[in-house]
Amino acid sequence: MPEPTTPLIERPWEDVERMLDVDTALQHVLSAFAPLESISVPLLDATGMVLAADVVARDDVPPFRNSAMDGYAVRAADTAAATWSAPSQLPVIAYVAAGQRDVPPLRPGEAIRIMTGAPLPEGADAVVRFEETDESGSVGQAGRETVLVYRAARPFDNVREAGEDIARGTTVARREHVLRPADLGLIASVGEPSVSVHRRPVVAVLSTGNEVMAPGEDLEPGTIRDSNSFVLGALARAWGADVRLIGIACDTVADLTGRLTEAKDADLIVTSGGVSLGDFDLVKDVLKSEGEIAIWQVRMKPGKPLAFGHIGLTPLLGLPGNPVAAAVSFVIFGRPAIRKMLGHEVTEPRIEEVVAADPIDNRGHRRHYVRVRLEPAAGGPTLARIAGEQGAGVLSSLAAADALMIVPEEIERVQPGTCLRAILLDW
Ligand code: AMP
Ligand code: MG
Repeated sequence: MPEPTTPLIERPWEDVERMLDVDTALQHVLSAFAPLESISVPLLDATGMVLAADVVARDDVPPFRNSAMDGYAVRAADTAAATWSAPSQLPVIAYVAAGQRDVPPLRPGEAIRIMTGAPLPEGADAVVRFEETDESGSVGQAGRETVLVYRAARPFDNVREAGEDIARGTTVARREHVLRPADLGLIASVGEPSVSVHRRPVVAVLSTGNEVMAPGEDLEPGTIRDSNSFVLGALARAWGADVRLIGIACDTVADLTGRLTEAKDADLIVTSGGVSLGDFDLVKDVLKSEGEIAIWQVRMKPGKPLAFGHIGLTPLLGLPGNPVAAAVSFVIFGRPAIRKMLGHEVTEPRIEEVVAADPIDNRGHRRHYVRVRLEPAAGGPTLARIAGEQGAGVLSSLAAADALMIVPEEIERVQPGTCLRAILLDW
């Protein structure tokens, strides 16, 4: 019988270590994610989130015909002869403010003093701005106030028609749209106090290693600080996830298993450390016994070992322990996964074309993500300067970097002046 076509992880629990290119690994990771279910959130909490349903206007915007200016509502025909030297004089029969309910009708030959946003009186077809009138004008017959109009109004002058901006029934925002502040205003103006969006994923972040200690504790001999929890947690939060820090697991089966169990109800578990070839790298063994996890060697630098699979039903991304390797791998694999769960169509990073300012060696056929600072050059492409030591554990150069410049696998040496692409680190 012929073998079925081999998926990437055929028998993950028996997976052998294999070398994968970044794009294949990413494709495989992404195939495990889909937009999360939709929830209704108050408008102000929806900025940057992705709409899960169209929003249709239930009312006209504006809902009624109103004045666009402070001035006098008139019939344009009654001002047809007005000029600066020979103004039309009209009796003012009423005042109308914004929000006023009972608005008297305007009869021919009359004016009504009106404020911006107030309903236009029936019978009026134009508003003359205060600037083109004289309100201190003479008192007319029978002691009635009058206004002098110095310019002939045309019908519809300074009048906002009902539905002029949005007609009832119009779709004001479509599903899959990423909500920006103006969209929220639009949705509010058609009467919706909340929107249906894809919910934020819960991302559980777990550090591993007997040597790793939380900041704030006294360092014991041979121990280091946990920096990964904070870099990875902050990145996930910046990308739109709700983050739970699970802490630091010791390299023991019991502790690792316990912490992973604690994280199981998350939408994504992110671990760091314990997936390389070290003798005490228990994580991969525990992962394999707890779920369907593959350990890959990805052709990238920094970062190479990467675990991916599921603990129960929860996807798990196992990043390398070295802080920059962990962060870069998370940018490459974690960000698109989180974006996909949030419902974003575009999961690719923001890229800028840059020119390398320094020579870079890249032997070993790995895609090299070089920490660079960007220097905008007048009239030319942006210059990318190495941001410091490029070791996989050197976090200070990542902190100093604006972007990760991509040196493709096949380029062994980058000469200064070479055009390359760089991933913008938009934290
Ligand atoms: P590992 O992949 O567990 O062998 O870790 C690789 C390197 O990263 C080791 O030097 C670890 O001490 C370091 N490392 C692992 N986890 C963390 C962490 N959470 N924060 C900072 N460094 C770490
Ligand atoms: Mg370790």
